[in-house]
Amino acid sequence: MISARTAGIAEAQELSDLSSNPSRTLRVDYIFSGTDRSQEISLDEMSCFDGWAGRTVNMDMVPVRGNGQISLTDAAGGQVLYRQSFSTLFQEWQTTEEATRLRKSFENVFLLPMPSSRAVVKVELYDFRGGVSASLSHVVDPADVLIRKQVPGNVPNEYILESGDPKECIDVAIVAEGYTSDEIETFYEDARKAVDAILSHRPFGEYRDRFNFVAVALTSSESGVSVPGEGDWKDTALKSHFNTFYMDRYLTTLRLKNLHDRLTGIPYEHIIILANTDTYGGGGIYNSYTLTTAHHKAFEPVVVHEFGHSFAGLADEYYYDDQFVEYYYPDCEPWEQNITTLYDFASKWEDMLPRTVSLPSPTPEIPIWDETGNGMNSLIGVYEGAGYQSKGVYRPYPDCRMKTNSPKAFCPVCQRAIARIIDFHTVGE
Ligand SMILES: [Zn+2]
Repeated sequence: MISARTAGIAEAQELSDLSSNPSRTLRVDYIFSGTDRSQEISLDEMSCFDGWAGRTVNMDMVPVRGNGQISLTDAAGGQVLYRQSFSTLFQEWQTTEEATRLRKSFENVFLLPMPSSRAVVKVELYDFRGGVSASLSHVVDPADVLIRKQVPGNVPNEYILESGDPKECIDVAIVAEGYTSDEIETFYEDARKAVDAILSHRPFGEYRDRFNFVAVALTSSESGVSVPGEGDWKDTALKSHFNTFYMDRYLTTLRLKNLHDRLTGIPYEHIIILANTDTYGGGGIYNSYTLTTAHHKAFEPVVVHEFGHSFAGLADEYYYDDQFVEYYYPDCEPWEQNITTLYDFASKWEDMLPRTVSLPSPTPEIPIWDETGNGMNSLIGVYEGAGYQSKGVYRPYPDCRMKTNSPKAFCPVCQRAIARIIDFHTVGE
């Protein structure tokens, strides 16, 4: 189903009963700054706009811990009105060599339901072991005159899949980056390809009626994206560039305030940015955004892989032998559902193991994938090498969409994790 519209906004509703039926969005912008061993959170700006596209169930819970959390608590009654877990580019940067000799700052933007009375916002960042590494609490008074009223943009957009009310569905904005006004039809085609690729992966297809996908046609004055490593800087809508953290293939945008400014007026809670280039690259940050290149031959598997990060908080199941920093420790269980250190394996896919398995499981030589995915469960095991580490971190399957571009599917453990996240967003207690 495709329907064109300019700026869709849920109609303002009664101000009462906001905790279960928010009608406005509070946007809170922060600066996260620090080095490899220090981190500080500072409030940048608060703003608001009509409508709420976030979830309306499980408001006071998080589905996974994440690398940080933000919560909104009623100041008078102490009731938790909303919680959200997330990961950040800042924390990823903290693991780079550059962070050992430089202090840098990163923009972060969060969307919360606007409280009806004074509330406390608390932001926390976690270290590799799950301990709180930075924390900031501040009061939000809905009558605060400095909460800026965001003006909805008038960006052309088109629904690729419109399953229902933004309050009930998971709203994914697919955003154009590096497409000139002459290339917008190409962008819509690319957006349709991305949605088809996601929905062709189980379990997304089975839950298609819980998703809205809207393609947002931002135009750039130049075609393509910046490649600083080749001295090529372009003027594009979202100011994305390759060579993030000096890594050739790492394409990100650091201008999150600009990204969210440009989306004002569109109901959205998850973001997929499509970059108009054929160079391989991209990234996905849990509850922040996915950014992938639309014209590389691996576009379809990559956009699904990155959405696995940004939507479902899945870990990479691949590994290196020379990682700069160790992310996972034997005395701590990672929060990502598809990897384990075996410290608390019962909290992971132990219940899905088909039989007694050897640790680690030997990689099988028989074919892993069949067209239908039937019979995959018999190969669920504990395979060493995942989460960038060749030792001490284990993955559930020989191969998976979260490991390489060749499989046709997510492994059964990732499929279950994605289904749980979809249910968390859409099914109340
Ligand atoms: Zn997997």
